[in-house]
Amino acid sequence: MIRAEHHVSIVTSTAPRARSTSEPPATSLDLPVTRIPGIGRESAKLLERMRIHTIGDLLWHLPTRFDDFSKFVPLRRLVPNASQTALAVLGHISQRRTATGKLMTEAELHEEDGTPTQVRATWFGRAFVKETHPEGERVRISGKVRFFGRSLHFSQPTLERAEAEAVHTGRLVPIYPLTEGIKPGQMRRWLHTAIEGGPRRTGVVGEVPDPLPSPVRERHALPDIASALRQVHFPDDDERLLSARRRLAFDELLVLQLALAQRRARWTAQASAMPLRVPDAELATWIAALPFTLTGAQQRSLAQIRDDLARRVPMSRLLEGDVGSGKTVVAALAARIAARSGAQTALMAPTELLAEQHARSLAALFKAGGPSHALLTSSVIGEPRRTILAGLADGSLDVVVGTHALVEEHVGFKRLGLAVVDEQHRFGVRQRATFREKGSGNDPHLLLTTATPIPQTLSQTVYRDLDISVIDELPLGRKEITTHLRTPDQLPKVWEGVRLAAERGQQAFVVTPRIDPADDGEDESGGSAPRPPSAVETEKELRQGELRGLRLALMHGRMPAKERDAIMRRFFDREIDVLVATTVVEVGIDIPNATVMVVLGAERFGLAQLHQLRGRVGRGTEKAYCVLVSEASDSERLAAMVARKPSGIEGNTVPLDGFDLAKRDLEIRGAGEFLGERQHGVPELRIVDLADVDPRLISETADEADRILAGDATLERPEHGALAHAVDQLWRRYALA
Ligand code: ADP
Ligand code: MG
Repeated sequence: MIRAEHHVSIVTSTAPRARSTSEPPATSLDLPVTRIPGIGRESAKLLERMRIHTIGDLLWHLPTRFDDFSKFVPLRRLVPNASQTALAVLGHISQRRTATGKLMTEAELHEEDGTPTQVRATWFGRAFVKETHPEGERVRISGKVRFFGRSLHFSQPTLERAEAEAVHTGRLVPIYPLTEGIKPGQMRRWLHTAIEGGPRRTGVVGEVPDPLPSPVRERHALPDIASALRQVHFPDDDERLLSARRRLAFDELLVLQLALAQRRARWTAQASAMPLRVPDAELATWIAALPFTLTGAQQRSLAQIRDDLARRVPMSRLLEGDVGSGKTVVAALAARIAARSGAQTALMAPTELLAEQHARSLAALFKAGGPSHALLTSSVIGEPRRTILAGLADGSLDVVVGTHALVEEHVGFKRLGLAVVDEQHRFGVRQRATFREKGSGNDPHLLLTTATPIPQTLSQTVYRDLDISVIDELPLGRKEITTHLRTPDQLPKVWEGVRLAAERGQQAFVVTPRIDPADDGEDESGGSAPRPPSAVETEKELRQGELRGLRLALMHGRMPAKERDAIMRRFFDREIDVLVATTVVEVGIDIPNATVMVVLGAERFGLAQLHQLRGRVGRGTEKAYCVLVSEASDSERLAAMVARKPSGIEGNTVPLDGFDLAKRDLEIRGAGEFLGERQHGVPELRIVDLADVDPRLISETADEADRILAGDATLERPEHGALAHAVDQLWRRYALA
């Protein structure tokens, strides 16, 4: 029996219990931020928006970059168009209105000995400069220097009294993420106080307990935690900054490695699966009976899965392969191996429609004999449902196909030996843990499939508890989908093409980045940028305008799953010509009669995602098209969608595949985009950007985790208390994620 309400407790029981010895002593780190001089109630409220509550939280609010104001230049040596710092004496300060009515403050700057120079400093709007800095004051001034007429000016520079400690000028100056209402200078001042403690030097940074035992620090030449935090906020120089960042990244990766290694070790030791086996000759006859020849990559993956299934340690394998690479048949053969060994298989898809598709695939693959199988979705009710449930309970039914509700509802198996989870992007670390706990007595082997490529850095970290098989080859004879890049003013032609396709009896998808016009959510580009198209508007406009007379339908993520399924079904049954949708159509479904995919606002999507969308068409015998519509300004990135590479056959080229595109996206847009906002079960890492972390650091922390666990598998030793605590914290974050 599997019940949803058990999930959270299962996860926490997977993790080691929080031990009282691993709780760090209370320090001022736990005090509210208002204890920092300068942070009042109002500011604390604003900080809360950034999830900064305690002084400890504040210390972990790290700068995203630095302005290098560390080099001092005499006024007469300043050069234009560069950020520089100078020591100067303020000369005459004047204020006037510009032609456009803006207040402009201008200060003459003198050499330190008082000699006047031609150099000035100018500010727009900042009246307080004149109020806070009197003429004759010695100042440190940092900022961009430009030509203003014929003399050089500091433009909008930052000033500090020369005698004051360098916080905002004359150093590597940290730039922090902010929220509305907090000024850059404020945030920097607060952190400086937390780190350095103001004039009395009572910085709380010294109270941060160091989670790393000193032998570990020495082995990897890492600074202690207090100096690392100090240098990561207010670095003395680049070198120390790098070393500090390396230290913090090391900690974070080490904890992740410890957590995953511990869990894997527990599984290997405690979990026990049914070994599922098939003799070579028998497997060969199954493969020979398939309606096609397996590709080399499919055979390789199948062999790896077969090896895993034969063991008592439950398989944890991710089967990764581009859209259409043929993952289903590999999973189906695994299910057949299970059935032959007397075990049952649950095959789970993200939607009911997809589950139905899988059920049809199984029927086709096992036409000439194979395991018994049935589809169990919410629409299977009454007597048929009872029969299936009985078959699962008494073991007479080998394979059940359904949605993830299968694990959540009261579906009892006699001998569940294999669970296949298809295309589940949200199947993160937490769900994997949950799943494995569900077998009673025996733990099922677990096979996950995905068309999303996993970068190596991820497979060595968050996916470290999974083995990975890759299908990096498409079946022969796939037709290419012709892809066009178009600008919005070319849309009339695009709709004409859609109409023609519909008149030939074919179908089209139109995908938009937003649901409805009110959804401005993440649009921070300001009022001037064109608003991205919405599904609701687009569908209405097309229905009344350019696609009038065709059968249109709308589908998006805010509709209930049932309604979405119903629409997909009507589309599948050809009752709809054009489906206007958001990316809910992204995953797995086969509509052989759909030949056109139009993506509006294409610049809003990741390349790998566009590739997935494109993969929705071209499943049938007709020639298929994909049209990516975007303002010309973003065509450079989208050009990858029509780029080609050598195919391996002399003089022949092929389009970039999902892996190439994901890699390119990673280079251009960074991991955040690639990972689709934590959709892939990646925990929130504070320091490390898994997309560009140095792979050597990953290996180093993996080795160190192994070394630590080899001597203290359960992290019981006092010197590992802080690490054990950090591992608990990490699991807690998963449990709440
Ligand atoms: P995906 O990896 O995207 O899940 P599917 O398993 O749905 O891909 O396979 C896509 C299509 O390719 C299916 O129609 C399937 O029958 C077909 N197929 C799979 N493997 C082969 C092969 N080796 N040769 C020819 N067709 C294949
Ligand atoms: Mg599939």
